[in-house]
This record gives sequence, structure tokens and C-alpha cells, in this order.
Amino acid sequence: MADSIARIVIVGGGFGGLAAAKALGRADADVVLIDRQNHHLFQPLLYQVATSALSPGQIASPIRGLLKKQKNTMVILGDVTGVDVDRRCVFVDSVDRAGVPLGYDYLILATGASHSYFGHDQFGRFAPGLKSLADAVSIRNRILRAFEQAEAEEDPQRHRDLLTFVLVGAGPTGVEMAGALAVLVRGTLRSEFRRVDPTSARIVLVDMAPRVLGPFAESLSAAAKARLDQLGVEVRLGHGVDGIDADGVVVAGERIASKTVVWTAGVAPSPAGKWLKAGTDRAGRVRIEPDLSVPGHPEIFVVGDTASLDQDGHPLPGVAQVAMQQGRYAGKLIRRRLEGKPASAPFRYFDKGNMAVVGKGFAVLQSGRLRLSGFIAWMAWAAVHLQFLANSNLRVAVFVQWVWTYLTGQRGSRLIVNHHPPASEDVGTTARSNEMDRRAS
Ligand SMILES: Cc1cc2nc3c(=O)[nH]c(=O)nc-3n(C[C@H](O)[C@H](O)[C@H](O)COP(=O)(O)OP(=O)(O)OC[C@H]3O[C@@H](n4cnc5c(N)ncnc54)[C@H](O)[C@@H]3O)c2cc1C
Repeated sequence: MADSIARIVIVGGGFGGLAAAKALGRADADVVLIDRQNHHLFQPLLYQVATSALSPGQIASPIRGLLKKQKNTMVILGDVTGVDVDRRCVFVDSVDRAGVPLGYDYLILATGASHSYFGHDQFGRFAPGLKSLADAVSIRNRILRAFEQAEAEEDPQRHRDLLTFVLVGAGPTGVEMAGALAVLVRGTLRSEFRRVDPTSARIVLVDMAPRVLGPFAESLSAAAKARLDQLGVEVRLGHGVDGIDADGVVVAGERIASKTVVWTAGVAPSPAGKWLKAGTDRAGRVRIEPDLSVPGHPEIFVVGDTASLDQDGHPLPGVAQVAMQQGRYAGKLIRRRLEGKPASAPFRYFDKGNMAVVGKGFAVLQSGRLRLSGFIAWMAWAAVHLQFLANSNLRVAVFVQWVWTYLTGQRGSRLIVNHHPPASEDVGTTARSNEMDRRAS
């Protein structure tokens, strides 16, 4: 590259990529952050958008706005489609151009994960996953529409199918979603319908694991399960789903008729491993060195959900804290190199603990030897989630909404929003392949 100043390209403005960009805020370098979305998304609260507790704008913020004070950082809305490690460039599809090469001196890949249907991709048509704002709004539409349809339906036989909601996967997302859905139907919607009784809605949580919240201690799994029972959630453990179609799911040979099935089970990493032709673990996550670089490429780092690193003999989990700490580490390490300082100590994850909320005023919390369930854990959950939202606007908006909902039962956003398909000029991608370096330099 002609310029003497180093260019650091970060792909992904989620937890890992944003933390890396912030760590590079004062670096004497050009930092370019590329994301296919214009916003940083707080995924841990997606289920609250899907169940109408919060609106999309309360859990996401434009990346450009979050980095506006960093004069050395440019944000590009684009989809990275590959990496040429020999030429040291990434290929970007932006608004109307495809495969535009963008050179780098250092590259940080923080491209996260998407849904995995464990080889049954056909389930995706009937059981959407929860990973993006669009997913959450689409699931919210489905849930609210099911009630509207049932209210308009004369045949009582159909009411039960329409008001049966099945969640596949009893990890933190499935449990949180089931609890929030129960609060929505048994609380907020209770007195608003005339022909159907929302409180009679059936919520079924299915998992092949023997207990809910697998990553937590058994006592906390049991506490969460007891709370779900109290909320009227049917928990079916020990059997996966054998089939999903437009009429419902089949579990252990039994058909559960349902018009709303949500997939909260598996995640698959982004294709970063394929782009780099690097070694991956069985799930497809890129195996990285203790300094988070890719073996044989000290200039390329992979962080967060798309990276695979063992610590004390166990793989690090795909959680926000790992992504943030890795992003920060990679950013700082590059900055030290640019400043000619000696290398940092290998990355070490500091585990602050796990939490999951189950309905209103109840959470489970596990941190070191501490095991807590109930209202105090819920308060801690709320405080931690508010703290990690991307900026103070969101913190205030979410705090006010939570207090309001807690006191009144009223929800943030119960709108069914049908999006028009994008206009052709917005999606048309021509094959113009200009050198994006010009724009980025
Ligand atoms: C519903 C849900 C609930 C969760 N709850 C919790 C929780 O309670 N606690 C917790 O710790 N963790 C939770 N997680 C996990 C946590 O959100 C992830 O571990 C974390 O987001 C990983 O950060 P990341 O930076 O690796 O990826 P992400 O935060 O997913 O960011 C990846 C970014 O890369 C962008 N991107 C991807 N591919 C491309 C491409 N080709 N080109 C350009 N941009 C691209 C995406 O648009 C995205 O902005 C939850 C996840 C989900 C889905």
C-alpha cells in the first residue's frame, strides 16, 4: 500500500468489532469498520423485541454514531464476501457495487454467528431464528398476528392451533423467550380479546437436553424450570424435534399443532474460516493462537463468536463478554505493535458470570461460586444489561420502559409492521468493481 500510515480493517460492528474499534481510537492508523448492518445490535435483548416488551430502536444504535468522535475511524455499510490473504485485501459488496477490494495492513474479523438448524435447513421456512432486528420484528408480527387471526376465527378448533407457540431450544434464549411470552399472553393481552382467551395460550419449550439452561449449575436449571412451570410453560425435555412444517412440530412421535414455531437452538459461525482457508473446529469456528491471530498470519485476528480458543482445556463460550474482551485485546495488541512496544501477554478471558431472566422479576445468576435465583438476581440482570447497552440514550430509554412495563404491564411496541419488499433500485447490485481504497483513504 502506498500510504505510510497503517490501515486496520475491522469486519463486524457487533460486540467484538466495536470493542476493537474503540481500543484503536487513538491509534496512529486509518481504521475502517465494515458491517452489513448500519447498527450495533444488543442481541441479549432481542427476545424482548420479539415479545413486544421493547421496540427495535431501544436495543440498537447506528455504528456511525457510536464512533463519531473517533476521527481516525471510517464506517462502511457493506457485506464482506471474502479475503485474499496473499494480496491482503477483503472484498466488499456495498450499496451498488460488488466484490470491491479493500486493502489492509491488519485485519480483525468479528463477523459473529447465524442460526444453525443442525443439517435441517428446511426447518428455517417454518421456524425462524432470532439473530437480527428483522428476525425479532418478524417473530413479533407472527405472535401478534396469531392472536388477531384467532379473534377473527369462528371455529374454536382453530383457536388452539393458532394460540400454541412452540420454542425449539431451552438454552438462555429459549427460556427467556418462553418466560417473556408467558408474561405477554397471561398479563398484557389478558383482557383485550373477546372471542379468545389469551391466557389459555399454550407455550411449549422443547429441547433434547435433559435440563433447561444447560450451561448453568443444576440448581439454577431446576429453579428456572420451576419458574417456567409456574408461568404455565410446558417444558418438554429429552427429545429433539423430528420435523417442523406449516402445521406445527413433531416431538418424540407426537404432533404438536402450532402456527408459530421459533428456533432458539443452534448457532453456526460466519464463513470467516472459509475466507481464510484456515483451520476450524467442528462447528466451523476459526482456530486462533493465544494472541487471537490466525496461525501463520500475525496480521489477521479473529474474535468473538466466529473464533475458537480453548482456555484451561475448555472452549470459550459464544457470549458477549468473550467477544468484547477479545475485541479490546486485539485492538490494543495492534496498537502496541504500531507503537513498537513489546507484545502483550496471551489473551485470558475473565468470566464475570452468566445470567438468564425467566418472566417478570425473576432471574438466575451464576458467577464464580455464587448461585442466585429470584428477584435480587433479576435486579442484577437488569443493572448489567443496562450497563452494557451501547450508549446512554438506550440506557435511559430501556430503563424508563422497563419501569413503566413493570408498574403497568404495558408493552413498548405491540405493532404488526408489514415491511414492503425493498425497491429494486435499493437492492440492485451492479458489477461495478471500483477500487474502494480510493474512498477509504
Ligand atoms: C438472541 C440472542 C441472545 C443472546 N443473549 C446473550 C446473553 O444474554 N449474554 C451473552 O453474553 N451473550 C448473549 N448472546 C450471544 C452474544 O450476543 C454473542 O456472543 C455476541 O454478539 C458475539 O459478538 P460478535 O462480535 O462475535 O458477533 P456479533 O455481535 O453477532 O456481531 C457480528 C457483526 O458482524 C456483522 N457481519 C457479519 N457478517 C458480515 C459480513 N460478511 N460483512 C459485514 N458485516 C458482517 C453483523 O452484521 C454483526 O453486526 C445472545 C445471542 C443471541 C442471538
